Amino acid sequence: MTEKKNNVWESAVVTAIINQENHRKSIFDIVEEIGTNLYNKNKSKSNTDLVIPISKIVEDHGISIENTDWDDLHGRIKQIGANYKIFIKRNTNVYRYRFTLAHELSHLLIRRLAGPIPKTNKTNLSITEEEFVVNLLAGAILVPKHNILDSIDFTKIIDKQIVDNLAKQSMVSRSVILKRIGVVNRKLILLWDFINNPINKKSDRALRINGIFPLLHRKTHHYLPLFCKAKDYRFNPNIIVNSFNNHISTMEEVYIDDFGTLPKQKYIMHNIYFSKWSNRFLFNEIVNSRKDFYSMASFIDYKYAYTK
Ligand SMILES: [Zn+2]
Repeated sequence: MTEKKNNVWESAVVTAIINQENHRKSIFDIVEEIGTNLYNKNKSKSNTDLVIPISKIVEDHGISIENTDWDDLHGRIKQIGANYKIFIKRNTNVYRYRFTLAHELSHLLIRRLAGPIPKTNKTNLSITEEEFVVNLLAGAILVPKHNILDSIDFTKIIDKQIVDNLAKQSMVSRSVILKRIGVVNRKLILLWDFINNPINKKSDRALRINGIFPLLHRKTHHYLPLFCKAKDYRFNPNIIVNSFNNHISTMEEVYIDDFGTLPKQKYIMHNIYFSKWSNRFLFNEIVNSRKDFYSMASFIDYKYAYTK
């Protein structure tokens, strides 16, 4: 029982990984190390290409790949005898395909790292947490820390062009790049969109938080109000509304008040304006869920979101 004292994770798999390191490292550090190790193993001296050879990495782990015509599932890894096989949906979107390969590989790596764990009841939160960590690792494999540090300068304004160029060069989605920038630099990310609050049907359309990264919940002692509006009093100066209205990316010191558990103080905030999503994106297979819609992203220098 004492083992669990400092642990904020409900997932037995994530808890087992942190316990093995005697709580010396956060799950974010552990995942980053795996990504860096794989990068060092696979980098070639002559090649400046940012594309990670994910199919080769998967096969180097003794995992075979079989393309399927599934409708509802992107991928699954299965043990067949002594070997593993990834079943993956044939996909014309190569970015999506590459991410699914990295995701399924990460399931195996995370399970191996956790070692044998006692059977426990899976809760929604524990499943969410494990998928979160698997996605963290998939991102760290596809976009190694090294490539982020070489490409992103936090002393300057980060705009759509910078993010999208790195996404294209790495053959991953814009969302993967945003999260990697956040993880590597320990920035909290807020994703914004002009929407109704989906949990309150009577709410008005407004610029609201549509996604938060990393995973924050009450157990972690950090939580922020999802779907809250970019109300003027919370952010001073309100570069979020300014950025949205004027279609510009900005970087400024902002005093934040009354915003979940975020201590009220000044923060360096980067606000990246993308563009409004048009309806045609609703049918784009890249978009999986509501949180994939955003017209803006904000980085806030709040490293405590990553401490555990
Ligand atoms: Zn998964």
